[in-house]
Amino acid sequence: MKIDLHCHSTASDGKLSPEELFHLAEQAELDYFAITDHDTTSGYRQLYKQDAVSSSTVALISGIEVSTQWSGVGIHIVGLDFDAHHPAIEQLILTQRAIRESRANIIDARLAANNMQNTLAGALTYCPDIGQVGRPHFAQHMVDMGYVKNIKQAFDRWLGNGKLGDVKSQWPEISEAVDAIISAGGIAVIAHPLRYKMTFTKLRRLSEHFKEVGGQAIEVIGYQASPDKQAQLNKMVADLSLFASAGSDFHDPEWRWSQIGKIAQLPASLPPVWQLFNKSRI
Ligand code: AMP
Ligand code: MN
Ligand code: MN
Ligand code: MN
Repeated sequence: MKIDLHCHSTASDGKLSPEELFHLAEQAELDYFAITDHDTTSGYRQLYKQDAVSSSTVALISGIEVSTQWSGVGIHIVGLDFDAHHPAIEQLILTQRAIRESRANIIDARLAANNMQNTLAGALTYCPDIGQVGRPHFAQHMVDMGYVKNIKQAFDRWLGNGKLGDVKSQWPEISEAVDAIISAGGIAVIAHPLRYKMTFTKLRRLSEHFKEVGGQAIEVIGYQASPDKQAQLNKMVADLSLFASAGSDFHDPEWRWSQIGKIAQLPASLPPVWQLFNKSRI
């Protein structure tokens, strides 16, 4: 089975439209494909009704990547195969939009206090919807203004983990995201577990908590892990009886290391997340 269950469109911080992404999924001959934009389903919702999608051999699964926090760390929870019109999902998205707007104003004020004025206005030239604006949009503007050399430097100095523009205090608890996804009939997945730079002891605590609140799966494929870390991750997922998911986290065709469908197969020893998909909806 070929799957890619994590990627971004222009509805959040991706460079390609939902249609362009679906075309790449067809070229990669995927069986299951999900667009998982940050805190929105609008890309998925504009795509799923199209004839080219319903007649395709690629099954498009609904998706979202929800920003949450746990123990002071920003954690991303991917939701898959839910009813995208369910009130619980619609309410979650409204809440996330309000948080993004408030967070954007805080980031703007903090950068202004460091001699970078009006960065929110600049970010909005890349993402006119303030309910959707994110740190990558600030980063692009900061590059334009010459405050930093490139996007990486914008994150390393100002916006990345632990820096002043990393305002995660407002995101909901993991349980809120999982509740909404489960209420809408979907599956909750911990995104890119190795990107949080946690010890495996802490990652196990996170995963146990996630399971206790109803989470079902963990992305084990996507992030380039060393063989040792990959083995530890696989073992943890097996020990906790969770399902395994896989996604490229595609954002931009220029990011050569992250391309639609160009990811390893799920380990045969772990139950694949697609076993949980609601076949009547696909
Ligand atoms: P936000 O949704 O505003 O919290 O922004 C998170 C997004 O920023 C991630 O999904 C990535 O696309 C991007 N990002 C996070 N860290 C980095 C980094 N160090 N370099 C480049 N992009 C990053
Ligand atoms: Mn992103
Ligand atoms: Mn993420
Ligand atoms: Mn992502």
